[in-house]
This record gives sequence, C-alpha cells and structure tokens, in this order.
Amino acid sequence: MANIRTERLIKRFGDVAAVDHVDLEIREGSFTAILGPSGCGKTTLLRCIAGLAEPDGGKVLIGGQDVTYLPPHKRNLGFVFQRPAMFPHMSVYDNVAWALQLRNWPKDKVRARVLEMLRLVRLEGLEGRAFRQLSGGQAQRVVIARALAPQPDVLFLDEPLSQLDAKLGDELKLEIAEIHRQTGCTTLMVTHDQAEALTLADNVLLMNLGKIVQEGSPLDLYRQPRTLFSADFIGTNSFLAGTITESSSGCTKVRLDEAGIVVHSEQNPAGLSVGTPVWVGIRADDIDVLDEEQRARYPNVVTAIVDQALLTGGTVIVQAHVGQTELRIHAGGSRRFQLLGKEGEPILCSLGSISLIARTPGEVPPNRG
Ligand code: ATP
Repeated sequence: MANIRTERLIKRFGDVAAVDHVDLEIREGSFTAILGPSGCGKTTLLRCIAGLAEPDGGKVLIGGQDVTYLPPHKRNLGFVFQRPAMFPHMSVYDNVAWALQLRNWPKDKVRARVLEMLRLVRLEGLEGRAFRQLSGGQAQRVVIARALAPQPDVLFLDEPLSQLDAKLGDELKLEIAEIHRQTGCTTLMVTHDQAEALTLADNVLLMNLGKIVQEGSPLDLYRQPRTLFSADFIGTNSFLAGTITESSSGCTKVRLDEAGIVVHSEQNPAGLSVGTPVWVGIRADDIDVLDEEQRARYPNVVTAIVDQALLTGGTVIVQAHVGQTELRIHAGGSRRFQLLGKEGEPILCSLGSISLIARTPGEVPPNRG
C-alpha cells in the first residue's frame, strides 16, 4: 500500500492538454475514483501515474518515491482494464500464478497465495477452468485476483465494469467494494459512471478539460457542488438564477429572479456574500410536490407549470418550468401518480436541499429553455 502524489503534472497531445497541471494527493489505503465526461483526460491521468504514458512535465510520487520516469513494471502496481487481458487457454489457476512467477515468488508460496486470491474473489473451485470458458463477470474477477496477488502498492482500475451488462456490473461493483475493504489496497479507478464512483470510492476527483475541478467524498460532491459543471455532471439538477440578499452563519437567503420569492439555504461553503449573483442548484430528487394546504409547512416553495410528466416505473419524471427556466422533478411515493396528466397546470414545489454556485453575468445554465 502506498500514497500517490502528483505535482503540476502535464500531458499534451498536440494542442490538447489532456492533463493540465494536476496536483493531487491520494491517501494510502483509500479508494479514489477519477470521474468525468468522455475526453476530459481521466485515462491519460491514470496512465501518467501508472507509468504507461510519459508526462510532458511535473512529477509522480508513489509512496514518497519519485517514479515519474520509472517504467510501470518497476512500480509494483496492479492493473484491471475494461477488457480482461489474460491467456485464454490457460487455467484460472495458471493465469493468477503467472503474475507471481513473473515476480519470482518462492515456488512454495505461490499455491497458497493463488488460492487465497481466488477465495477473495469468490472463485474457489474454478481453479482448473480454462480462462476462455468463464463468463464476463468471472473473467474480470480473475483479472482482479491476478492484479492483487503480488501485493501491489496501488491497484488501478480502468472502467472495470463497462463491458459487463447492468446486473453483472452491479454484482461486481459490490464485490470490488468488499475486496477493497478486505485488502485495504490503495485503489485508483477511472470511470465516467457517476453511480460507480459514488458507490465505490471514498474520495472522488471530478475532472473536466484536463483539470481536477472538485475533489471530495461522494456526499460532498453530491450535496455541495462548487461549480455549474460539478452540479450538472452529478445527478439531475435544475438551476434558478438569483442574488444573495442576506448571509449569516447557518442561513443564506437568495431572491430568485423569476419566481420572485426568497429561498433559504443552510449551506454556503464558498462564503458567497450579499449581492453576489448565484445559481440555486436543485436536485430533481430533492423536490417535493405539495398540496395547497401543505404550503405553509414547507420551506422554499415555488410554483412551476408542468410541461410533461412521464411514468418510468418507480419514479414519475416531471419536466416543468418557472419563468423561462426548466425545472426537473423526480417524484417518488404514492402521490407521484397524481402528476400524470397535469400538463399545463401549476404545481407547488418545495425545493429541499439547495446548493449555491457563483454565477457570472451572461452565463446560461444547462436547463435554460
Ligand atoms: P474516455 O472516457 O472517452 O476514455 P478520457 O476522459 O479517459 O475519455 P482521455 O482518453 O484521457 O480522456 O483523452 C483526453 C484527451 O486527450 C482527449 O481529447 C483525447 O482525444 C486526447 N488523447 C488521448 N490519447 C491520445 C493520443 N494517443 N493521441 C492524441 N490524442 C489523444
């Protein structure tokens, strides 16, 4: 196990800065996810840290040692890629043992370690099976066993679930979490799937255009997005324009431009002051649709006009608007069915937890209709 640090790390491809002066610190034993949209530089960052790509500038330190120009096989790392790269005709046992033989493990220790790893990934009994006879999920578990067998300092996972169907992916996700709990191996995973990052990681690095735009626990990223990009990327959000009218510890008030009401927020992590233009970010799952008699009991109630209400099984997805701004609502509970067929009608929406994000003049949010 080891910690990871990068200092001003840069990797360019022509004019594109795939990794743009990235400084990061990854705690020993943590499970960190690099999350971001396609092309933001996640894989390139992972490859630079792992030694699979040579940076154009900056440093990579693993366990305090400067490894910037050390080849990957000298870094004691484990890898799991999207597609399992194994020997198809060799048995599960031999595929895992191979990683230990490559590192000259003493012969008498190999068997016990291989069997321990296969127990860890719940593949006992399949030692003799040829790799090509395994299902996609089993194959990926062998890859994890092989990556962890030599006790790497860091385990790298590059979109490990993306080739599996949804159900298998969900199962393996839970297993990866359990494997990390048992081994405590520092793990760095690249994913574009926010559910994967939020479920597995204790630390999330959100990336955009080659830079880390926000870092924190999954709950921090979910509840306290710092930028319009962070708020829009994670979950389904709507943004209403407003201006801060009052700010004291524990309560910040914002006048909403279009709804014409004042809403209250308990959070103002960026310490935005009175007069600052802001976006009020609202998660689709944090909006309660109320009856008129409930209005007085709820905070932050706005009136929206329904454009569309769709039943998607467990949730009714409502697209509504407040002035020119679209409001997206994911309604649960038994009352959700009452929203069906309400097109064109007003509804009362209580905005649950809201986040405040500084707004620059002329900026248009992703939900502006
Ligand atoms: P995805 O989720 O689609 O895999 P990503 O976030 O991992 O994307 P990267 O693959 O790291 O992104 O790519 C970052 C940027 O660098 C992109 O603009 C990509 O086109 C560019 N890039 C990556 N590898 C190369 C390469 N070998 N040659 C030229 N450009 C590259």
